[in-house]
Formats: sequence, structure tokens, C-alpha cells
Amino acid sequence: MLRRTLLATASAPLLAWQRPYDLVVKGGQLRDPGRKLNRRADIAIRDARIAAIEDDIPAAAALQSIDAKGAMVTPGLVDLHTHCYFGASGLGIDPDPVGARSGCTTWVDAGTFSYDQAGGFRRFVTEPSKVRVFGYVYLYPSNRNPDMDVVKYVRGFMKATGDTINANRDILLGVKVQIGSNMQGRYSADFLKIARELCDEHRLPLMCHISFAPPETDQVMEAMRPGDVVTHMYSRHSLGILDAAGKVKASVREARKRGVIFDVGHGLGSFNFEAAKKALDDGFLPDTISTDIYNLNLNGPVFDMPTTMTKMLHLGLSIDEVLLASTGTPARVINRVPLLGTLQPGAPADIALLRIEEGSFPLIDSQKNTVQTRRRFVCAGTICKGVRLG
Ligand SMILES: [Zn+2]
Repeated sequence: MLRRTLLATASAPLLAWQRPYDLVVKGGQLRDPGRKLNRRADIAIRDARIAAIEDDIPAAAALQSIDAKGAMVTPGLVDLHTHCYFGASGLGIDPDPVGARSGCTTWVDAGTFSYDQAGGFRRFVTEPSKVRVFGYVYLYPSNRNPDMDVVKYVRGFMKATGDTINANRDILLGVKVQIGSNMQGRYSADFLKIARELCDEHRLPLMCHISFAPPETDQVMEAMRPGDVVTHMYSRHSLGILDAAGKVKASVREARKRGVIFDVGHGLGSFNFEAAKKALDDGFLPDTISTDIYNLNLNGPVFDMPTTMTKMLHLGLSIDEVLLASTGTPARVINRVPLLGTLQPGAPADIALLRIEEGSFPLIDSQKNTVQTRRRFVCAGTICKGVRLG
């Protein structure tokens, strides 16, 4: 309050301690489609929150200022499917450097760890990271006793998994399971049933990876409840959202109508241009755009959120549709931080500066199909919790 009062009355240049804001982002095009915001304005940050949005906020009113001319100023990107836990799988990546160069301020680890590693996830990933990190817990630990009945083994972890998530609701969102003959072999249907029971009993959302049948898509969709997430929606694999004629299956549409979330989850094998185009031609847009980024796809074909967003732009989504599916909607799925994924006074000061670059750029899907695109998203700056990263 003291700093504010002084600003209003002082006629001499303000001393650093008198300035009301920590940071001001000047001259950008503010774009938050969830709030129908698309205007040129300045945005001021104080104490890690957005403090003001006005036509002109003098740079002298803040300790630091960033020139955002020519850039879109959007909510920080929210990636609902990543792998950033450094576990035995070796898949995880460090979210901070990638977040700093890509505008991605909120990361959700999608099941790189099981309940017994949740403490390590909090202590060594969520707490030290500059970006926000949440996680879905995998259904079971991977170090299985080979002499033990598999279904019994997985069932044995239901209570501990549910209890762990409920005891860590600030950072843990729900349960992750990978359903597909290539992941669980003949146990897929059993594991889906266990995941469903666990989530019902502990009132948790389920994130379900789909890849190869069996089980069939209808069977998986039947098990999905409102708030659950189906990831890898645009793969070309047999456990997918399309029927043989390339149309979206009725059970998939019904699941969406019930409130099931459909997520891109690009990954090394799960994003196919042709499959995505067919689904989009049939009117089936993604709820959330995510990368499924890990160390085997970080240097291609995934790279980062702006690259995955560019692919969706190339396939015909509007800039606003891409932005909403990369900010406000995944933030609502996470549902932990009030006003996350929006630009408004009081919201967390998580901001991406994005530019649309024109030219000719190659884009590669998971099957190495390459297309050329004319516009791409480029990150020009990342602010998380009020601090510029990188
Ligand atoms: Zn994944």
C-alpha cells in the first residue's frame, strides 16, 4: 500500500522501493481466448500475481520492464502430458530449461512414477522447479516380482495409491494407466477395471493412454467418467478414436458429451497427421494440446509445446482454439490453482510471450511424415510466478 500511495503523490522520479510493481510487460497484444481478451495493453505484476492490465503502465512504475512489442502476451502454457520425474525409466526431463525456452509454465507428469515415489516427486521435482509441476500417479510400481500373479500384484497397490494421492492433493491429480495390448498384453482389461475401481473408491480422475487393441475403444470409453482424460487422441493405432471409415466412433462422442477430456499427447509414436486430419474433418477438436515430452522425443519430433501447437494450427485450428487448448482448458483440468491459465488481475503471473513467425517450416509427426507449414508459434519469453525464466 505504501508503494502505491507514493506513486500517486510523487512528482520526482520514483526510487526503486517506491515503485508499485515488480515487473511490467509493455506493448504486447494480450490474448486470452478463455476471457475473450484480445487487445493491446500493458500488464503489471506484483508479488507473483497479475496486478493490473491497462492501456499504458509506465516502465518507471516497476522495478523491471519487458518490451513485448510484436508478441502475443498469453497465459503461460500448460502441458497436461509430460514426463519430468527422474525415475528408473530414465524418461524424465528437467522442466525448467524447456519451460524457459518454450513458454510452458505448468507441467503435468503423466505417470512416470508410482505411489512409492510420490515423496521423491515432491522433493526433487515439484519443489525445486521454477515452473509448476503436478502429476498423475502410475497405477502400479514397475519392479514386479516375476513369481507373483500380475493382477494380484497390481490390485495390491490400490489402497496405497489412492491414499497417497489423497494425502498429496496439492500436487497429485489422479491415476495414470496405459491401456493397450502393447503395454499390458492380455492384462489390459484387468488393469482398466482395477484403475476404474481405484478411482471410483478414492474419487480420483483417471488419465488413460490408448494405443493398440485389444481392448476395443468402446470398452475403454465405457470406463471413462466426467473429468477423466483420454490421451493420445490423434494416434493412428488400432485402439483409437476413429472407425474403419475414418469417422469418430459413437462411443468417443458419447464420452465427450459426458465430460471426458480428449488430449493430444503427441509423444514418440502417438501423433499422426492423417489421423488428426480425419478427426478434425469430423469435427473432433482436442480439449487439450499436450506434448507427452520425454528424453526420446525432446529433440524431435516433439521438441516443445509451441511445436505441437503449430501442428494443430497447421491442421486448421484457429490461434484462439490452439491457445485455449494450451492454457485455460488444461488449467481447469488440473483444477488446483485459482485463475491459472488466465490473464486477469489476481491471476498467477504465469505468462508466455509468443510470436507467430511466417516462412516455410517443416513439421514431422510420429511416423516421420513431413509437411511444410507457413506459420509457426515461437516463444519470445517466459514468466512464471512473476519471474522471467531463462
Ligand atoms: Zn506419456
